[in-house]
Amino acid sequence: MARSTECVFCRIVSVEIPASVLYENEQGIAFLDVNPLSDGHILFVPRDHYERLCEMPGDLLSRFVTALPRLGRAVMAVTGTDGYNLLVNDGAVAGQVVPHVHFHLIPRRPVDGLGYRWNAGKYSEGRADELAAAYQDALHHL
Ligand code: 5GP
Ligand code: ZN
Repeated sequence: MARSTECVFCRIVSVEIPASVLYENEQGIAFLDVNPLSDGHILFVPRDHYERLCEMPGDLLSRFVTALPRLGRAVMAVTGTDGYNLLVNDGAVAGQVVPHVHFHLIPRRPVDGLGYRWNAGKYSEGRADELAAAYQDALHHL
């Protein structure tokens, strides 16, 4: 199993450093985020060291994410919330700080002050067709 001795989440997986672990299975481990965005914020990480989600083999990822609905139900049951944000920051430019794949489950409460300020735009004439074609082409060889 691929691990990195430098990686903080690999070190949590191999119990070299402590974490508030709440769930483990063959593929992954879930523990409390040490600096929670809200009370009950958890991280679910694969046991294998992949820096980015886009580098993971699809079959491994699919087995890993099987646990997410159950973890989501647990988040709501334990925190008394009705919803949560499931978040993956894939790449430093997207806010990824720890270079080991992880899913955030962030419990949400009304008026909790959390959220994004993402300004949705509009495509100019022809741009959506151009992009869709570029994606279709790229997906043939990626
Ligand atoms: P990212 O920005 O990479 O998506 O998020 C990394 C998350 O890992 C942050 O929310 C941060 O609080 C959490 N984190 C970083 N180091 C540790 C640690 O040693 N233990 C735990 N439990 N969480 C950590
Ligand atoms: Zn790692």
